[in-house]
Amino acid sequence: MQHCSGGHTIMAYPSFPRESTLDRALARVSGAGRLVRHGWERILDRVPADCALCGGAARGQPLCDACRIDVTRTMAGSVIRCPLCALALTQPTCPDCSARAPAFDQVIAAFDYAAPADLLIQQFKQAHRFSHARVLADMLARAVLARSPALPQHTIMVPVPASRVALRRRGFNPAAELARGLAHRLPYALRPELLWRVRDGVGQTGQSRAERMRSVAHLYSCPERVENASVAIVDDVLTTGSTLNSIAREFKAAGASYVVGLVAARTPYSVSK
Ligand SMILES: [Zn+2]
Ligand SMILES: [Zn+2]
Repeated sequence: MQHCSGGHTIMAYPSFPRESTLDRALARVSGAGRLVRHGWERILDRVPADCALCGGAARGQPLCDACRIDVTRTMAGSVIRCPLCALALTQPTCPDCSARAPAFDQVIAAFDYAAPADLLIQQFKQAHRFSHARVLADMLARAVLARSPALPQHTIMVPVPASRVALRRRGFNPAAELARGLAHRLPYALRPELLWRVRDGVGQTGQSRAERMRSVAHLYSCPERVENASVAIVDDVLTTGSTLNSIAREFKAAGASYVVGLVAARTPYSVSK
């Protein structure tokens, strides 16, 4: 089977390719001390590697040129998006933001959660491909740096905290790994201590939009005042925006003047959700 788009044809992407030596190595050091891992990742950022999606030559980049075009093609096209939540629109107004203005001010996404980009997320979260944190961070950082006007210099980045259940199951917090990758690539401070998860809550998968809104209400808190701060909330996927909205509300209540969501993938709208 072949996958064809954007004027080029490449082999179908394997859903869950074998863990690479790099992934096994990163997994081994994940609990061995942040300093060691931090330094190692900085070195790895400079080591040429194969394309994370097709395995072809990537000339030192996380993805080869063809895969990068494939993954981000809907972002580069003429798709009209909601200026607030970055949803690709099929109607003149955003069905979510026009019904109720969100507490956040903007969303920047690297790509839409659609094939083949969704594979990157699935491999990262379910197959523990730690090296994908660098791939996703690289693409998201490019999207952030391309934003005009640029985010304020004093912007602080805060990853969405994972539940203890998810941490136990997965062994890592995808949002935190993504945020650490962004901190290597963007001139903004990483401040994970500014957002607490108050309780575990329940998983949102399978919940309706209204159920998600209710389940994340007051699930997070900001433990200190952040007067006039520009806050960038980092997450791997934005689905309904209920988590980002709940967190943005907390930061605005704590004094933040601007809250932007930085997400690797934006899920297209689903009426059922
Ligand atoms: Zn490739
Ligand atoms: Zn919207």
